[in-house]
Amino acid sequence: MKLSIVVPCYNEEATIPVFLSTVTPIVQSTGLDYEIIFVDDGSRDTTVATIVALSNLYSKVRLVELSRNFGKEAAMTAGFSYATGDAIIPMDCDLQDPPELIPEMIAKWKAGFKVVHAVRRSRQTDTWLKRITASAFYRMMEGITDVAIPPNCGDYRLMDRTVVNAILSFPERNRFMKGIMAAAGFKATQVEYDRPERAAGETKFNFWKLWNFALDGITGFSTVPLRIWTYIGAIVALFSFSYAGWIIIKTIVWGVVTPGFATLTSVILFLGGIQLIGIGVLGEYIGRIVAETKRRPLFLVGALYGFEDRNTVVQLDAASADRGAL
Ligand code: UDP
Ligand code: MG
Repeated sequence: MKLSIVVPCYNEEATIPVFLSTVTPIVQSTGLDYEIIFVDDGSRDTTVATIVALSNLYSKVRLVELSRNFGKEAAMTAGFSYATGDAIIPMDCDLQDPPELIPEMIAKWKAGFKVVHAVRRSRQTDTWLKRITASAFYRMMEGITDVAIPPNCGDYRLMDRTVVNAILSFPERNRFMKGIMAAAGFKATQVEYDRPERAAGETKFNFWKLWNFALDGITGFSTVPLRIWTYIGAIVALFSFSYAGWIIIKTIVWGVVTPGFATLTSVILFLGGIQLIGIGVLGEYIGRIVAETKRRPLFLVGALYGFEDRNTVVQLDAASADRGAL
């Protein structure tokens, strides 16, 4: 039986050496055959050179070098499509996904579970803003989607080969992996952990990236934001009818009153705002429909290292281009 560790990397030159020196002995201790597949997501630093150099020391290291930065979700998909293991574990490169959990995950996998989530016991290491926004996001997703996305669970999990094949069969370009993995289903269990700080380097996700990531998740797995406008419109219409009735009564009883400039202005601005938000929501979905219909490859592979003879560089060929296009 073979274990594949899939590690998306974007400008991770500082963390790769410590990642390998920490993870390798733990994986070796499981007694399984293994491979560590790094996916370079268009790094601008020496990530590729670092991995290639270290592959002389660590013979199980493989590298999929993408042609540019495609984002973590696409990089993970690339890693999954090259993984050959019976169990696959996606892991961050910064050791925030503690490798000490791997033996426990494998034990649960051997006990028959197809997915073993690593769930965070607390979010102590996050800023308060991230804590609040993350919990609001998960609560909202729970309310508006049919898939059960486990809260406080990143991408760190063990997945059986059948689950990864299922994930790879999802055709969408919008790779909101947490959602896709949840939508795949299968018999799951969990292990708990405390998330440590980043080993070195700094986070690649700023607030704007996380916001767009959340939008990908919402639009990818729910149509509630689209359908809600029927009801918002109905409520506004109902309100305006009753207000019109009140004006008629008022005019009959007290006569015509001309002032009302402020009321009129605020009502017009309010409705204008509501309509623009509605159009904006439509735009979020339509923009993604455009991206889906183009059916562009999820990722493009620039080079592969270590997949055949060690240290041989397989340049982008028809076969890898095929796999890239899934
Ligand atoms: N990452 C990536 N492509 C990107 C951004 C991030 O492959 O465009 C990788 C990154 O190298 C790391 C993992 O995704 O291995 C998680 O990133 P990070 O630690 O910055 O995120 P955080 O833990 O702060 O959420
Ligand atoms: Mg991190």
